[in-house]
Amino acid sequence: MHEDCVFCKIIAKELPADMEYEDEKFAVFKDIKPVAPLHLLCVPKKHIVSLSHATEADRGLLGDLLLTAQKVASGKRLPGYKIAMNVNREGGQVVDHMHLHLIGTIE
Ligand code: 5GP
Ligand code: ZN
Repeated sequence: MHEDCVFCKIIAKELPADMEYEDEKFAVFKDIKPVAPLHLLCVPKKHIVSLSHATEADRGLLGDLLLTAQKVASGKRLPGYKIAMNVNREGGQVVDHMHLHLIGTIE
């Protein structure tokens, strides 16, 4: 848990979020400013600042992150969706806790 990290605070239940899925390693919740009918954030509970800060030790976590997004999407029977990750300020990242955007045109 990193102080001043909004996603760590959501994971620690110190801030509310519309949680869609949670297990010991990941939290998936609705984006507060959705850009599509379905806009979820898939967040590892481990605080990694961005993909550029991930290491070889995070190989399994990175794979599981994608599979978690896939599991949530298939649970919603989405016929298709987009997965995006912004990396660092220059890549459009605003929250410095690595996360995937799961974006679908239907809820
Ligand atoms: P980034 O640009 O870092 O990839 O995306 C961060 C996302 O987090 C943005 O789409 C933004 O709307 C969302 N966000 C920022 N603060 C909060 C919050 O407190 N709660 C939730 N649910 N989403 C947030
Ligand atoms: Zn964090």
